[in-house]
Amino acid sequence: MRLSQLPLTTFKEVPAEAEVISHQLMLRAGMLRRLASGLFTWMPLGLRVLRKVEQVVREEMDRAGALELLMPAVQPAELWQETGRWDLYGNLLLRMRDRHEREFCFGPTHEEVITDIARRELKSYRQLPVNYYQIQTKFRDEIRPRFGLMRAREFLMKDAYSFHLDHASLQKTYEAMADAYATIFTRLGLRFRPVEADSGEIGGARSQEFHVLADSGEDAIVYCDADDFAANLEMAPALAPATPRSAATQRLDKVSTPNQRTIDEVCDLLDIPAQQCLKTLVVAAADGGLIALVLRGDHELNPIKAAALPGVAAPLRLADAAEVQAAAGCPPGFIGPVGVTLPVIADHSAAVLADFVCGANEDGFHLAGANWGRDIPEPETADLRNVVAGDPSPGGGGPVRIARGIEVGHIFELGDKYSRAMNASVLDQDGKESPMLMGCYGIGVSRIVAAAIEQNHDDNGIIWPEPMAPFQVVIVVLNPKKSESVTAAADALYDDLQNAGVEVLVDDRKARPGVKFADADLLGMPHRLTVGERGLAAGQVEYRERRSGAEEKLALDDVVKFIQAKLGPAPA
Ligand code: ATP
Ligand code: MG
Repeated sequence: MRLSQLPLTTFKEVPAEAEVISHQLMLRAGMLRRLASGLFTWMPLGLRVLRKVEQVVREEMDRAGALELLMPAVQPAELWQETGRWDLYGNLLLRMRDRHEREFCFGPTHEEVITDIARRELKSYRQLPVNYYQIQTKFRDEIRPRFGLMRAREFLMKDAYSFHLDHASLQKTYEAMADAYATIFTRLGLRFRPVEADSGEIGGARSQEFHVLADSGEDAIVYCDADDFAANLEMAPALAPATPRSAATQRLDKVSTPNQRTIDEVCDLLDIPAQQCLKTLVVAAADGGLIALVLRGDHELNPIKAAALPGVAAPLRLADAAEVQAAAGCPPGFIGPVGVTLPVIADHSAAVLADFVCGANEDGFHLAGANWGRDIPEPETADLRNVVAGDPSPGGGGPVRIARGIEVGHIFELGDKYSRAMNASVLDQDGKESPMLMGCYGIGVSRIVAAAIEQNHDDNGIIWPEPMAPFQVVIVVLNPKKSESVTAAADALYDDLQNAGVEVLVDDRKARPGVKFADADLLGMPHRLTVGERGLAAGQVEYRERRSGAEEKLALDDVVKFIQAKLGPAPA
């Protein structure tokens, strides 16, 4: 492609509307334009990247035996009423009416439509397993569309749905999809991790998310370098401490803490570390009462773990100050487990403390030297907290680390949730109707583009992983209008590289060299060739690698071979 024929507008300033680097750089590079909140136009250079991602996804899905189809983006309400999701999905669902006042939605996902296909097409176990997929536009009316392509309202997703007679078959396809996903993200040149996930609303059994590691990620991922353990922070188990509680050595002492309501304030006043304090949080109980949850002062409550406890109301609700006052006789900052009449559940790490500080259940006071078993009945214990870096890995390999991640893929074992609701069954070996088991497998195709930039950029712009770059090579032509020989040499190079199967962008615009170099860096092509009068006189062009910045002078005749060697063999 010739840049002289592409109306490209790039800019130096960071656009005010964009908070994250991927969004800023795509706008600055003229790859993306915003139409309205969460709605974007893919400009020609950006679209090339999207199509490349799509193609890798398609190739690996095909290789894994999945069958591509294309379902309508607009879906009738009746299907969603069959599964109950017309009401459950709430405002995320963009609803509309046709001229006959019939209700429709713009599909945020396609379980209902594919299950409808399956119940019509699949009649016998002999036709199973089947794995259908599509690459298609979704619409979710996200509460807070932000971060450009990362949380858009309209976005491109690859969604696959598999159908099975039994669980063994479902597991086999699930594993095949996990492998295909790992291949896809590896081929795209991304650093990623598969993590065990909370299967959340879609519901079902096993579920894994694939995260691209990047500081701007919305999710915290806990992982261990020495074993296979990786999980979303929401889900990562905190192991109970291996060392038992030490014996009580201090006597219980009431201390005045008149204005110290937070753990930090209490610790400062008493000059103790937060690890030696307990904090007590009062939450709604499943039976309508209240429960006191007790954590070590430096730990954070994990709301998903807490809400999953049998006695605790789900979703989790923290008691307000008036409820705490009524239940414990003090403001929330002074509540503690000693003498409290509420049921107490202590986190494993809180339950092994001895000689600790906690609230005295009296305004303006804390207790020091408190001990379980002596001052408070032995508590019921549970895993209530978020894992912190350095905790032992459940995989046994050593301490865990925490990184930020961007969810780019998600695979689920759905089971029979949708097939039961929608009556999608086949005849089994004994001629009996059996509801099909399902798996579903999503990839955020457009989000991948943003995630790749979040992971691969520098101060000058995007550094595309080679397989995603809009072009593999950019040729910067210096002062083409001034020198015919420069134009001729650049044209010849352009033809030779294209004939060798290389994707080339030529910057033949009438712009200053500085502008061209800056744009080449911003646009992020992995390899840059510069053709100028001075180099040509010596029969040379200049090569520069975008990622390392390494430069080299090349003889004109060697350029094609050199670039081919840099690009490596084309993927099979
Ligand atoms: P999230 O937790 O980020 O809201 P999700 O779990 O609701 O995502 P899924 O239903 O698992 O999303 O959809 C499959 C994939 O689609 C996700 O892994 C993600 O990569 C992508 N995706 C989901 N929502 C968006 C969005 N608003 N914009 C861009 N991509 C999205
Ligand atoms: Mg998800």
